Amino acid sequence: MTEPEKRRPAILTVDDDPSVSRAVARDLRRKYGGDYRIVRAESGQQALDALRELKLRGDVVAAILADYRMPGMTGLEFLESAMDVYPGARRLLLTAYADTGAAIEAINVVDLDHYLLKPWDPPEEKLYPVIDAELEAWARSDYRPVPETKVVGHRWSSRSSEVREFLARNQIPYRWYTSESPEGQRLLAAAGSDGQDLPLVAAADGTVLTAPSDSELAQHVGLSTAPSEDFYDLVIVGGGPAGLGAAVYGASEGLRTVLVERHSTGGQAGQSSRIENYLGFPDGVSGGQLTERARLQAGKFGAEVITTSDVTALEIAGAGRTVRFADGTSVGAHTVILATGVSYRRLDAPGLDRLTGAGVYYGSALTEAPACADQHVFIVGGANSAGQAAAYLSRNACSVTLLVRGASLEASMSYYLIQQLAAIENVHVRTGVEVIEAQGEEHLETLTLRDRAAGTEETVPADFLFVFIGAEPRTDWLDGIVERDGKGFVLTGPDLRPEDAPSVWELDRPPFHLESSVPGVFVAGDVRSESAKRVASAVGEGAMAVMFVHRYLEGIDS
Ligand SMILES: Cc1cc2nc3c(=O)[nH]c(=O)nc-3n(C[C@H](O)[C@H](O)[C@H](O)COP(=O)(O)OP(=O)(O)OC[C@H]3O[C@@H](n4cnc5c(N)ncnc54)[C@H](O)[C@@H]3O)c2cc1C
Repeated sequence: MTEPEKRRPAILTVDDDPSVSRAVARDLRRKYGGDYRIVRAESGQQALDALRELKLRGDVVAAILADYRMPGMTGLEFLESAMDVYPGARRLLLTAYADTGAAIEAINVVDLDHYLLKPWDPPEEKLYPVIDAELEAWARSDYRPVPETKVVGHRWSSRSSEVREFLARNQIPYRWYTSESPEGQRLLAAAGSDGQDLPLVAAADGTVLTAPSDSELAQHVGLSTAPSEDFYDLVIVGGGPAGLGAAVYGASEGLRTVLVERHSTGGQAGQSSRIENYLGFPDGVSGGQLTERARLQAGKFGAEVITTSDVTALEIAGAGRTVRFADGTSVGAHTVILATGVSYRRLDAPGLDRLTGAGVYYGSALTEAPACADQHVFIVGGANSAGQAAAYLSRNACSVTLLVRGASLEASMSYYLIQQLAAIENVHVRTGVEVIEAQGEEHLETLTLRDRAAGTEETVPADFLFVFIGAEPRTDWLDGIVERDGKGFVLTGPDLRPEDAPSVWELDRPPFHLESSVPGVFVAGDVRSESAKRVASAVGEGAMAVMFVHRYLEGIDS
């Protein structure tokens, strides 16, 4: 079925007499087939199944015509159930003359919009004028099609929050329904779900995923989750700005390139509501937009982009480099660029782990922003990421309080952002404070804060807490393979002292600028020791690392 075909609103007709059913469908198709999809059923149950399938696909139904006398489920019983699935569809009953009394009564029972008498010949006189009027009424109603992916889940479940974040970061339009909402209930019923295994994801093509993993979601929305080849010129680990930069330059310069990302492309930048200091965007650009364009650009040049694949090991054997994934599979390459960036540190205080996803969030402020309307929001952190989140959330929230451990923001946040925050009325900055406990039953309710200088404690009402603290490189899997500094950042080029790599460095030349202690393994972006921790520098290092990849390859070819 083609895409436009799916998107046309449907008119469903059901009659247990196959010849009548076909005749109604034929007449409807003749007049309305161009603008509407005519769906035909021969029993109430079959019609209900068809409606549920349409619902799961996100299709809209404009009108339902049901025969009154049907065995098993009468037309009235069917229309009553159909109301639950498509409350906005116009409901029409097809009756024989003898049943008009029952049809009139049904106007109240199932909120019937019209009844039609059999036979309806000629349709121009008896059928079409009625259907025309009903379709006009339907078009005037404030009904609007919702063809997107739908997510149904518990409001305060961290997995529901992760699934929404995943879809948002991969630019998949979706609608979110809590499992208690009427539409959520309808979707669960249509999918035959008892609401135990959530979230439920109903995709636009009708597929239903129950509590899907990231990998299942990725496959479902058309993202690759495994490399197509066994061997590449270049494997890039990490799909943030540095990895994407390397993928664009690597592939555009003819290297067989694969980028492997454990979650969604974009990295930290993908969580940024507005990057204002990236060259060429005087009005700023959202990190999601910037990195999505980079992903498309990398794909255009022929780079393979793999998501939801966690790299867990790097093996070196002679000139061969093997990158191993969490599922045990692996891919070989001449060269590797490590662009794994940094991840947020967890805040260690009682109550926070339990309430993560239920008012407490790490880094991800964007998907939760609508829920913050008129709420008291707290943000922990004093760097630009925290400042941007404060400015972004202040648009909806009642108040936003930035909690900073240090004595001032000046040491950690850009001047332009400090000025911006100072001008926003509902943003408050509290320095020298830390969160020592979070309380709440199902959702965050209060936070206990401690003034670090005075040692005093206070408990404040809080609806949301976003944590943007201390980024860590998470490079344990590289232990014993490449040399790292005391904090786990990977050492490269001039930062590698000769004594750092005596056992592996077998070449006459010194390491290239972005080369690690293993020849042919390069490092770009935030994960590199002494890196600038900026989008522009990460992208630049990605591009630069590719230049060194070429030099390395020339060396092994000669
Ligand atoms: C909210 C926020 C706002 C920011 N705003 C700005 C700004 O305005 N201007 C600015 O210049 N900078 C800003 N920054 C900083 C900037 O985003 C980072 O410096 C930049 O993203 C670093 O890019 P990267 O590619 O090195 O690493 P990251 O962006 O951290 O990306 C690394 C990627 O590698 C993946 N990865 C990690 N380990 C593995 C593994 N083992 N296997 C597979 N994949 C893995 C991660 O999932 C991640 O996607 C901001 C950061 C944040 C969080």
